[in-house]
Amino acid sequence: MLLKGLGISAGQANGPGRRFVPRNQRREQAPADLNMTPAELITQVRQELEDLKRQATSDIIRDVLAAQLLMVDDPDLWDRIEELLRAGHSLKTSIEQAVASVASTLENLGDRYFAARADDVRDIGLRLVAHLSAPQTQERWTIREPSILVAESLFPSDTATLDLAQIRGFVLGQGSVTSHVAILARSLQIPAVVVGDAIASITEGEPLFIDGTDGLVSTGSPLPGAASSPGIPAQPPRWPVIANRVTTRDGQPVLIMANVGSVAEARIAVQNGADGIGLLRTEFLFDGSHPPSLTDHRQMLGDIAEILGPDRELIVRLADIGGDKPLPYLAQKDEANPFLGVRAIRLLKEYPHLYDDQLRAAIEVGQHARLKVMIPMVASRNDWTVSRALVAAIADELALARVPLGMMVEVPAAALDADYFAETADFFSIGTNDLIQYLYAADRTASELAEYNSSLEPAAAAAIRMTIEAAHAHQIPVAMCGEMAGDPQALPLLLGLGLREFSMNPASIPQFKAMIQDLDARQCRAALG
Ligand code: PEP
Ligand code: MG
Repeated sequence: MLLKGLGISAGQANGPGRRFVPRNQRREQAPADLNMTPAELITQVRQELEDLKRQATSDIIRDVLAAQLLMVDDPDLWDRIEELLRAGHSLKTSIEQAVASVASTLENLGDRYFAARADDVRDIGLRLVAHLSAPQTQERWTIREPSILVAESLFPSDTATLDLAQIRGFVLGQGSVTSHVAILARSLQIPAVVVGDAIASITEGEPLFIDGTDGLVSTGSPLPGAASSPGIPAQPPRWPVIANRVTTRDGQPVLIMANVGSVAEARIAVQNGADGIGLLRTEFLFDGSHPPSLTDHRQMLGDIAEILGPDRELIVRLADIGGDKPLPYLAQKDEANPFLGVRAIRLLKEYPHLYDDQLRAAIEVGQHARLKVMIPMVASRNDWTVSRALVAAIADELALARVPLGMMVEVPAAALDADYFAETADFFSIGTNDLIQYLYAADRTASELAEYNSSLEPAAAAAIRMTIEAAHAHQIPVAMCGEMAGDPQALPLLLGLGLREFSMNPASIPQFKAMIQDLDARQCRAALG
């Protein structure tokens, strides 16, 4: 059986599927201990979290546990618990009801940041209740052989208790690219796929083959084209982090930047030695039930700018929405070919104010940070004129300095006309994921067309070369942020074509910095003939 889901951490893995048993379902729960006082309970849970934090093997897990430690005695939560206790409920019921009500309040605040915290509160609730019960519910869920972990959902602190060395991959019922488990999986390079309700069809112990890049899970038989030997390593060899900027052997400076989609990923990028963020995908801020507020934008950009500090650049891409990522609150028509449809900057015709708040926040944050704005899916000259006018109008309205404005070169028309765009663009970033799908007429999400989608063939190389040459002729920076930038096999070709800025998955950065130091850019150019 082949399940098509959402890939949230790239790579392939296989192994027996092991179903994760959530804490509150481990063995029969003993009756609640009515004798424990709230203060004793808080001390016990605090102790447990401190222990877990000490044993944690990853910075992200330590961050999650630190946040939970702050929440254990949260006054809002405990005021409600005390109220329910006074009304005659047991401590267990009081905790459960108070947690449910605090979590739903957070979810309804209309602020994405707080909504995400609701899960943390529920997690703390489960932990408190488990401590009121007999000790067996504290038992750790163990995984004894290298496996694919199958779970309906994973709370942040569940991940803290897992033996990650035994986990080759994750198959989840729920989750998104920005969920804690996704961030953790990506930082540890463990492939992960979200399959929704289909998770119920996976049985304990059956062989699973997963592809976190294309979002596929096959039960029983290997994925087409995938290595079938058991034990594709979940964790490729680790490269030491190189914090400073690197040069090639012949002294050419090369920037290795990161593609990220959240504050947590930005932190991981810096930890991995990123020289900046070459692509901030902002789509996830938009994917809820209502548009993000100006505060949401400011908060995200401000937090990331702070993490990057004064020396690293932040390239903020206007949200690339529409197409295959429709939004519930935008009334878009059904499209026969969404990738060729009303997507990204094209949405401005229908929704002229779609990007106003995002641009306002970017321009404000850009006054104090090395921030640049990037327009996705520019195809025609008019797309670019409209984008420039929009950014200028917002900067003028705010009476603030304009921020550098560049564009993705991800539509073949933009590559062919790169010389024109380079006259007014402050920078280019080549988006090979779309550029190649449109050049080769091969849907980037279709796994059977994968051979086209990482193409190093002459046509792809020609489009890339035209873009780089136009940028050089007009002396503007040119980077690449499509997946090809993180493909080790493409690196010599791209260096030879004159590319000196690469933006990639944060996990690949240490390896790329090491490779750059080993390559000679002149030789790469000479090899092109
Ligand atoms: C690209 O198209 O190469 C790109 C980086 O953008 P996205 O993958 O977000 O479409
Ligand atoms: Mg793209």
